[in-house]
Amino acid sequence: MAIKSYDVAIIGAGIVGTMTAFMIGKYKIKCAVLEAGIDVASGTTRANSAIIHAGYDAHEGSLKAKLNVRGSRLVGPIAKQLGVHYNKCGSLVIGYNEKDLEHLRLLLVRGKKNGVRGLEIIEQDRLREMEPNVSKDAKYALYAPSAGIVCPYDLAYAVSENSATNGVDYYFEYKVDKIDYNEVNKLYTISANDKTIKAKYVVNAAGLYSDEIAEILGDKLPFKIIPRRGEYMLLDKSEGKTANHTLFVTPSEKGKGILVSPTVDGNIIVGPNANVVESKADTGVTSEGLSEIAEGARSIVPDINLDAIITTFAGVRATPTSGDFYIRESEKFPKFVHAAGIESPGLAASPAIAEYIVNILRNSGLKFKEKEDYITTRTAEGNCKLFYDMSESEREKAIKKDPRYGKMVCRCEMVTEGDIVNAIRRPISAHTVDMVKRRTRAGMGRCQGGYCRAKVAEIIAKELNISVSEVKKFSSNSNILCGRTKRI
Ligand SMILES: Cc1cc2nc3c(=O)[nH]c(=O)nc-3n(C[C@H](O)[C@H](O)[C@H](O)COP(=O)(O)OP(=O)(O)OC[C@H]3O[C@@H](n4cnc5c(N)ncnc54)[C@H](O)[C@@H]3O)c2cc1C
Repeated sequence: MAIKSYDVAIIGAGIVGTMTAFMIGKYKIKCAVLEAGIDVASGTTRANSAIIHAGYDAHEGSLKAKLNVRGSRLVGPIAKQLGVHYNKCGSLVIGYNEKDLEHLRLLLVRGKKNGVRGLEIIEQDRLREMEPNVSKDAKYALYAPSAGIVCPYDLAYAVSENSATNGVDYYFEYKVDKIDYNEVNKLYTISANDKTIKAKYVVNAAGLYSDEIAEILGDKLPFKIIPRRGEYMLLDKSEGKTANHTLFVTPSEKGKGILVSPTVDGNIIVGPNANVVESKADTGVTSEGLSEIAEGARSIVPDINLDAIITTFAGVRATPTSGDFYIRESEKFPKFVHAAGIESPGLAASPAIAEYIVNILRNSGLKFKEKEDYITTRTAEGNCKLFYDMSESEREKAIKKDPRYGKMVCRCEMVTEGDIVNAIRRPISAHTVDMVKRRTRAGMGRCQGGYCRAKVAEIIAKELNISVSEVKKFSSNSNILCGRTKRI
């Protein structure tokens, strides 16, 4: 079989890789995204706090600061273009004493220097008006009205679907294990097991594993990547009024600390802690970790109802020992761009990171000519609104067009068979139960899929014309069924 050749190959379909593909998809450039996992957002992008940070944390002059502030301004318009839930709810960093106030002042000055708009320090009365459930001991807060929340994997799905619609090729289960550079024809050969593609330019957006990609190439990043895990609890929508803004405690040397925040779907998220772990893949949740974040949450909102927990999860940060994002062309290998050490605020900064990568590629000789037939929405059919988000008249219209929109599959999250079929048929097909879950929210409610999981598997089987026992939960070897129970 002929080996496919591309102008650009992006390694990693996290928010950095997919956002870069989204920006490149507007131009007449042949681009491929190579992802080790079965889906977009298989790594850190799947599990984080989901905050579009305003940009007062990072030190003035750092790449983090510059790209955070710019990125946070770009997320809203992209979310609007692609129908992604985004809420500019604002954030509050809570201070309890004079020492905290001193730190809040420092963040205020730093934020202003970074270009964050609307920052101010508020006092107890106003704070309690804005957040009636906050601790009575909270005396001050740094208010950042430009901060927001988003669903991180939905943002990644939206930009990847748009780029796939515009001709970017996605290769899944493509774990890059060999990269060769041919100095004569100036092409990179990028392989994974028995698969190979060629590309003139390469972007290393492999998150936690970007150091390993550099080593596979024969290059070395000038810092180490330390995996730091953060654990979370998610509370039921019944607790949605616990906080109106993202509430942080005054940060420590360990980072931004534990937060209590609304999510775009109406839940409350609590966490994360920050603990160095041995394995980059260690997304386990521990009882000590949950106690730590419960204690942190109670220091912000003493009466928070932690009995309403519906799930727990953890994500792993790619913390660079250098302290800043590292986005530059390799000194040893031409036209090979590393985007490494992208820890928080990598999500908030992602559109600006992608712009930055595009500029490096442009300066390195890649030609950017706009496509005349660029499709602005997620798919050629539009932005794939879910039944839950539709108005009454939109629902009636959808059911008339396709009666499957009238069949409720997930009662907790109001997901219909029409939503699920649509997710399976989109440019990046949701062909496992978890892929459907993250795209439609079927199984994300209070019962966590107890009611609908089997039905979702049946719909996938029917759509893909396979047997139910062939349907996977999250990866190619995660079977749900192995045969008929009576036979067993
Ligand atoms: C606990 C926690 C909280 C956070 N909170 C926030 C927040 O509130 N706001 C914010 O802005 N940021 C936050 N972040 C940071 C943010 O999540 C990351 O900066 C961002 O998701 C990084 O995206 P990425 O694309 O670089 O990496 P990833 O999402 O990890 O993507 C890299 C991809 O590369 C793939 N890959 C790896 N090796 C290979 C290979 N050999 N071949 C092919 N593919 C490969 C992986 O499977 C993965 O899908 C948080 C992070 C954590 C862990």
